[in-house]
Amino acid sequence: MRVVAEKRRVLIAGGGPVGLFAALLLARRGVAVRLFDMNDAPQADPRAATTHPATLELLGEAGLVDEMIRVGLVAPVVQFWDRPSGQKVAEFDHALVASDTRYPFVVQCEQFKTAGIILDRLADLPAAEILWGREVVGVEETGDGIIAEVRGPNGVERHGGAFLIGADGGRSAVRKAAGIEFEGFTWPERFIVLTTPFDFAAQGYCPRSYFADPDEWCNCFKIAADGEGLWRTVFPARPGESDDALTSNEGVERRLQKFFPAARRYEVVHRNLYVTHQRVAQRFRKGRVLLAGDAAHVNNPIGGMGLNGGLQDAANLAEKLVRVVVGDAPDRLLDLYDRQRRTVAVEFVQEQSIENKRRLEERDPERRRQKLGELAAAASDSVRARNFLLRTSMIAMQRRAAAIALEEEA
Ligand SMILES: Cc1cc2nc3c(=O)[nH]c(=O)nc-3n(C[C@H](O)[C@H](O)[C@H](O)COP(=O)(O)OP(=O)(O)OC[C@H]3O[C@@H](n4cnc5c(N)ncnc54)[C@H](O)[C@@H]3O)c2cc1C
Repeated sequence: MRVVAEKRRVLIAGGGPVGLFAALLLARRGVAVRLFDMNDAPQADPRAATTHPATLELLGEAGLVDEMIRVGLVAPVVQFWDRPSGQKVAEFDHALVASDTRYPFVVQCEQFKTAGIILDRLADLPAAEILWGREVVGVEETGDGIIAEVRGPNGVERHGGAFLIGADGGRSAVRKAAGIEFEGFTWPERFIVLTTPFDFAAQGYCPRSYFADPDEWCNCFKIAADGEGLWRTVFPARPGESDDALTSNEGVERRLQKFFPAARRYEVVHRNLYVTHQRVAQRFRKGRVLLAGDAAHVNNPIGGMGLNGGLQDAANLAEKLVRVVVGDAPDRLLDLYDRQRRTVAVEFVQEQSIENKRRLEERDPERRRQKLGELAAAASDSVRARNFLLRTSMIAMQRRAAAIALEEEA
């Protein structure tokens, strides 16, 4: 085995948007970074698109937002509908948080586009090495560094560095190698995502529309795709429903027609099934191993918070790692990363994403009335509406993380 050692290098497992963003933020500050991804190129499956104001702030500091807006679409409004009655329950406009952020809107930018934009920037940075077709299969801490065992075209090699960021997704090999528990639960129902060019705007729906229904809820989102745009509809599959029943042409048509009756057959360009979890790693730091993104936390996609939280992890961690690696700060600063990001993952993302799901699927008529009533009341009062948006746009979460740092300094 060849040993490639470098005392101050940061190793990263995973070239999803989170690993790439961490690499960019470190390399542009001159920190040597070597990133490994087991695939030969960035993944192109249709997952995240919604990028919230708090995350746009961080991406904007790295000069990425203009390009994201160019290839994505800007969505200032979010709507909630009561599907059985066909009534719009609430509408929130991010203009209400215009004094809290430079970006009072979300940008719907597919995650492979975001990853591509970051990759383009990395190409200009000599401090960054991005190695595709390399799988991290083991981790070993030495006294003053860490070694990643990486399987690639030449067999298994050992790469040395100062720290290893595990940004290798929900099944993280790094998390498992470090022996860190992934605490939480898995939802019994899978989620099915059907993507169609059908224009839901013509039905009066905005590019971020949530539908509450005790029988079968739905999220309906527009993405820019390559031009005219596509709409992604997300539904819960019933436990026990077979893959075939879910994804066959007939199954897909039945589901869409039941929810959104239309005069003609739906064209469906993607159909994807996802098992969905609510889990948070027991710790985000163990010695020289640091977890970020889905490796550290996973949640259901209602509210679009998973990748946002991961990109926020990357920014928080990179800022601290730069200081630790150049010797400006002791390595206990990295414990603060754990306290800030793990706290907000539990208090905000887990709590909010579970509440978002419960609100849409509630079956008890009384509780349903109450939940939708609260939403309507919040939308009709500008103070409550702003507070609602501060939370959903993850600004409150970033403020909470900043407050943890201040409490510790005091
Ligand atoms: C249907 C759906 C919709 C979603 N919508 C949103 C949304 O609108 N907004 C939002 O914020 N989030 C959303 N999410 C969540 C979002 O997709 C994830 O949070 C995001 O992909 C996490 O990024 P990541 O970089 O941490 O992990 P990933 O994107 O999973 O990337 C991990 C990378 O690590 C690589 N890898 C894995 N194992 C290894 C290894 N051992 N060695 C080397 N490389 C490895 C993989 O090849 C991959 O490239 C959605 C998720 C789903 C399923």
